[in-house]
Amino acid sequence: MLYRTFQNEQLSALGFGAMRLPTRPDGLIDEEELDRMVDAAIAAGVNYFDTAYPYHGGRSESSLGRSLSRYPREQWNLADKFPGHQNVKGVKPLQPAEVFEEQLRRCGVEYFDFYLLHNVNENSIQNYYGKHENGFMEYFLEQKAKGRIRHLGFSSHAGADALEEFVARYGRDLEFCQIQLNYIDWKLQNAERKVQILREAGLPVWVMEPVRGGRLAHFDGDFEERMRALRPGESIPAWAFRWLATVPQPTVILSGMSNLAQMQDNLKTFSEHKPLSAEELALLDEIRVSLTSMIPCTACRYCCAGCPKQLDIPLLLNMANEMSVAKSFNVVARYTALGEKMADACIGCGKCRAACPQKIDVPAEMKRLAALMAGEKTWEQLCAERAAIAEALKQSQRG
Ligand code: SF4
Ligand code: SF4
Repeated sequence: MLYRTFQNEQLSALGFGAMRLPTRPDGLIDEEELDRMVDAAIAAGVNYFDTAYPYHGGRSESSLGRSLSRYPREQWNLADKFPGHQNVKGVKPLQPAEVFEEQLRRCGVEYFDFYLLHNVNENSIQNYYGKHENGFMEYFLEQKAKGRIRHLGFSSHAGADALEEFVARYGRDLEFCQIQLNYIDWKLQNAERKVQILREAGLPVWVMEPVRGGRLAHFDGDFEERMRALRPGESIPAWAFRWLATVPQPTVILSGMSNLAQMQDNLKTFSEHKPLSAEELALLDEIRVSLTSMIPCTACRYCCAGCPKQLDIPLLLNMANEMSVAKSFNVVARYTALGEKMADACIGCGKCRAACPQKIDVPAEMKRLAALMAGEKTWEQLCAERAAIAEALKQSQRG
């Protein structure tokens, strides 16, 4: 197992994320398969296990805690998260003390090694600023002082600006940050900038969604064949983990594994360094472009100045691109946080289309995004429409 130094501790580079645990046909967690996975992980030297209040409707915490309790407490680090992002207007705000005590009970532990404010994003950020009268930060800092939290951090799906704002406000009280990071989101979600913000704030980076929920585990066309020819002994998901070695200083890389085979494959990957060659990196770049270039916006912003509604057009197009790579509640959260600047504010004046050097039909894209977000169109319809437009654009460029 590869290890990373965090403060004065050695953490396994691979962390077991308990978000997509194995399930039985009745939907409950398959406890026997979970035990086999935990046994394999511990035997190979994994010492970081991650759960959260809402995972598996609350059962992830109790199942993971039970499975780990078969091993001495000093042999594993347990991470859990406070669901501040679930505070919604009109519903009684979550009380940190109630939730925290329940989590300790569910997991069967007396302290958490790592505790995170869960999913700080544009919508949830106000919850963490204490405007809901329940002072999260004060409470968790108090628990840390009492030794019931060894390390306090946060996870975030926020855009770079909101992340920067949160870090400026609370960075000094926090010790690490978990972000979505993989070779697609390096550009698509601007993870490159987020890593830079965290590094400048001295916050080590924890990685989530390294295989983008399985999206980077299988590919159409000849990509898989070419990958296997270049790395005969390695699986397709292993490429996503190898790519992370090119990013400065990721600490723990969390993988949400669902069966023993996935665990064994990841354990093999994390047993040694096998850096990607220039040719292999170029292939990943080719894959990235093929997955994310459906709306070829370069974020030049030439269109923005003339927009009578002052929409952040490249941001909205980027969200549309993200949604066509994979369905994402986090994109929906960031989108709704735009309020009056959502795509449905577009009046179709066409000034942006005239200004766009990439010839993007922005008003049509705004209509599509608004319809998708309002639930009027399915994901599949949107993707099919985009594919047709991309093909037509390619044809016209060839012509
Ligand atoms: S068409 Fe919509 S997005 Fe484009 S400039 Fe007009 S209002 Fe703004
Ligand atoms: S002008 Fe075109 S390419 Fe540039 S930001 Fe606007 S939509 Fe994107």
